[in-house]
Amino acid sequence: EEDVGKIKPDYLRSFLFENKLLPSTWIVIRIDGCHFHRFSEVHEFEKPNDKQALNLMNSCAVAVLEDLADITFAYGISDEYSFVLKKDSQFYQRRASEIVSVIVSFFTSMYAVKWKEFFPQKQLKYPPNFDGRAVCYPSSDIIRDYLAWRQVDCHINNQYNTCFWMLVKSGRSKSEAQSDLKGTQTREKNELLLSKFGIEYNKLPLMFRQGSSVFRAETEKTIALENGSSTEKLGNKVIVSHCNIIEQSFWKTHLSILD
Ligand code: ATP
Ligand code: ATP
Ligand code: MG
Ligand code: MG
Ligand code: MG
Ligand code: MG
Ligand code: MG
Repeated sequence: EEDVGKIKPDYLRSFLFENKLLPSTWIVIRIDGCHFHRFSEVHEFEKPNDKQALNLMNSCAVAVLEDLADITFAYGISDEYSFVLKKDSQFYQRRASEIVSVIVSFFTSMYAVKWKEFFPQKQLKYPPNFDGRAVCYPSSDIIRDYLAWRQVDCHINNQYNTCFWMLVKSGRSKSEAQSDLKGTQTREKNELLLSKFGIEYNKLPLMFRQGSSVFRAETEKTIALENGSSTEKLGNKVIVSHCNIIEQSFWKTHLSILD
């Protein structure tokens, strides 16, 4: 009893450090699966792209946007997702550790809960985990550059991985495939895919080539009536789209995302 009286909460709180993110900037929380190279092997993901694993990631990102109104956009590739908070968000008073941890833990538990929906035949063999970080981008040009950088990464990785796994599946060892591709340019990789495997890179699924963008969009339903049809507004719905976000045109037609 005497000892309890000696604890001084203000003194203990004085050790807390401020971790508030710069005001009036776009906050990006990027999460990334920990050791997913191994996770994807243990769970026998299709290489180079397991469609259901990507659909699971996308579904978790949709759940995040449906839960958190301050997130206006998300972009995902492979085992990573970037979440963009609107620039004047006051979520957790902009404290980085709270924002990062709540998004990472929400996403991670969604991933485990939704697993069986996307992999009804596959057991989740161990709990996945993700790390997360926060970065502030001070202008809409810079945040668009950030997202373009992620989409360029998607393209470069996908093109490399498609070649790599086609070579491996055709009998080359992993190290042989690696040296086959060393120093090759985009054009050479496309030629290799076409000449050796009959694959036209540009005909591969958009989700693999462009990644996944998640945002709110106005949706409407067309109702058939006796005298024609009418449309009913269904309001904003969170959607997944595989579009080009490097081009300005996307941002011009979706001004509210970064307003
Ligand atoms: P770290 O813990 O440092 O992030 P990592 O093993 O997760 O290490 P990453 O650079 O994040 O490495 O790469 C993720 C890896 O997960 C990819 O290289 C790929 O092998 C695998 N992977 C992720 N998603 C898929 C998918 N949908 N289909 C097939 N493989 C995938
Ligand atoms: P916040 O999101 O701000 O943390 P909170 O609702 O989680 O809000 P806390 O101050 O963290 O509020 O308190 C946790 C609450 O959860 C407790 O007030 C209690 O009602 C409930 N709770 C947690 N663990 C138990 C438990 N083992 N048994 C019963 N109730 C519990
Ligand atoms: Mg990582
Ligand atoms: Mg990873
Ligand atoms: Mg990654
Ligand atoms: Mg609490
Ligand atoms: Mg609590």
